[in-house]
Amino acid sequence: MRQPATSRSIRRILGPFVVGPVVAVIAIVGAHVSPSVSSAPRFDGSPHLAPGGGAATARWQAPAVREDRRHAAPGAPAAPQAGVSEEDGVLPEGVTAFDEQHAGVARLDPALLAALRDAATAAAADGVEIDVNSGWRSAAYQDRLLREAVSTYGTAANAARWVATPATSPHVSGHAVDIGPAGATAWLAAHGASWGLCRIYRNEPWHFELRPTAIDRGCPRLYADPTRDPRMTP
Ligand SMILES: [Zn+2]
Repeated sequence: MRQPATSRSIRRILGPFVVGPVVAVIAIVGAHVSPSVSSAPRFDGSPHLAPGGGAATARWQAPAVREDRRHAAPGAPAAPQAGVSEEDGVLPEGVTAFDEQHAGVARLDPALLAALRDAATAAAADGVEIDVNSGWRSAAYQDRLLREAVSTYGTAANAARWVATPATSPHVSGHAVDIGPAGATAWLAAHGASWGLCRIYRNEPWHFELRPTAIDRGCPRLYADPTRDPRMTP
């Protein structure tokens, strides 16, 4: 899901303290009065948006509500992960780089965490909240994710395109963060190099690592996916 440009610009004007429902209401009203708003790329691949159309408006509204809920309960319990807990790095929704009560944040590499906090502060001035969906992970948590990926993608080779092993994952060493929502990943992709924060994989727009040389030279070329990353070779 992509945050609409209209919502971003409204949040930029009104500042970071405006909560989602206000934006959602304005966006919905905008959908009725402005065809240009309705034609904004609200969804990836949705051909159904029509100005003022009842059904289309319902589809328009639903994702915004989900997005709001995501931000409404930063202390909400983490999604259940059988066998692993917050001590393994499982994070509840709405966690930011400043929420160091969570192991998934506190056990990140200090330089990465400092860069992410600086970037998050600048993003907030643009009305963008950067959430940490996943940061440091224990080997047990990474192993669980890998086994789930093998189950999902059918083979270890296919799973390797998305999830590294406990021995190779930069999340286990505390050197990677997965951020969200989509507006935050777009913001950090555009501005993160100023703090050495870089995307690494083309297939994972949410995954960022610290590359200090990026501050002067820009981020390195993306790998297509983790299987192209030499670090992932056992
Ligand atoms: Zn990642």
